[in-house]
Amino acid sequence: MQVYVDNAATTKMSQTAIQAMLPYFEEIYGNPSSLHTPGQKAKEALEAARADVAACLGADPREIYFTSGGSEADNQAILSAAKLGARKGKKHIISTAFEHHAVLHTLEKLEKEGYSVTYLDVTHNHNVDAQQVKDALREDTCLVTTMYANNEIGSILPIREIGAICREAGVLFHVDAVQAVGHIPVHVKDDNIDLLSLSGHKFHGPKGVGALYARRGILLTNLIEGGAQERGKRAGTENIPAICGMAAALKDACAHMEENAAKVTALRDRLIEGLSKIPHSALNGDPVHRLPGNVSFCFEGIEGESLLLMLDFKGISASSGSACTSGSLDPSHVLLAIGRVHDVAHGSLRLSLSEYNTQEEIDYILEQVPQVVEYLRGMSPVWRDLQTGKRQYIL
Ligand SMILES: *Cc1c(COP(=O)(O)O)cnc(C)c1O
Repeated sequence: MQVYVDNAATTKMSQTAIQAMLPYFEEIYGNPSSLHTPGQKAKEALEAARADVAACLGADPREIYFTSGGSEADNQAILSAAKLGARKGKKHIISTAFEHHAVLHTLEKLEKEGYSVTYLDVTHNHNVDAQQVKDALREDTCLVTTMYANNEIGSILPIREIGAICREAGVLFHVDAVQAVGHIPVHVKDDNIDLLSLSGHKFHGPKGVGALYARRGILLTNLIEGGAQERGKRAGTENIPAICGMAAALKDACAHMEENAAKVTALRDRLIEGLSKIPHSALNGDPVHRLPGNVSFCFEGIEGESLLLMLDFKGISASSGSACTSGSLDPSHVLLAIGRVHDVAHGSLRLSLSEYNTQEEIDYILEQVPQVVEYLRGMSPVWRDLQTGKRQYIL
């Protein structure tokens, strides 16, 4: 059996998204900046896609800028807000310790340029609460940037409350909503969001395309200079097929959000219940405010990489942390941020589900994972030390 449960890394494209892209390769291939009819047809498709994306977020189409993905949108949002802050002498930013690297590395760059960043602690419930943001605000705070939901452990942050605090304080609020958009309700106006990032390939759209929402009146800084595309804020001929595929996938995801979330949540909860029975294991992430598709565990006494390889051999495609972290020897910064010690953080497993997963697949995972964990523990010197009392169990 082949089971794909790595949907937080990327998703399979939906037929809707594929079909929406096809006309723009062979038939409507004009450049939207061209004045002739084929160009204007492409332009119409571009603006229709923009309207669709805006509608799904409760935004105005003029507030949507297409980018090459979530990472670019994160970079542009944060650098723009930082620049606006510096103009007023405000160079303090609030974020969290478990952001995606697209946010963290951008913040590190700003720290080198003289900005100071407060990283909120995420040990309580593996989440942040709005009061922490309020307490961290300073006279010189120019930006609060947090994710909507965490890609590794699934915690959903109290975005609406944080947004209200930022609005009241007159501080810009950027949200990396890459894991949330298309999966849970996101409304930029109700949530008081000023800047928001999303990515097509996390909701069954194509890779290499995303969008930045910037509330009207917020001046963006260009990352890419050139032509006047995207209201002069993101140069380069628009990737029309990808943009149309992403918009179709998002429209589809939003139209079926409730039923998809209900289905995926039921599968998730069965997995969590079953895997919790493995001794010396722990669920990572907020148990209540949690993405419908996220299952994340630590198993004491094993290496996550060995677990992944053995599961891959059994046809199960999972992850140990974020795709960016795997391949390096350091445990995930997210697991360390929620307070998992190195040894425990190394034994992690993330199963991220989509509506394409089935009950049968969950049964198969629940049969295989406990067996593989037991097998690996049987070979582990660390596990032997735990059993003989030479080492103390942590979980
Ligand atoms: C995947 C992801 C990104 C990066 O998006 P890309 O389109 O792959 O650049 C950023 N933030 C989060 C939370 C993500 O899950």
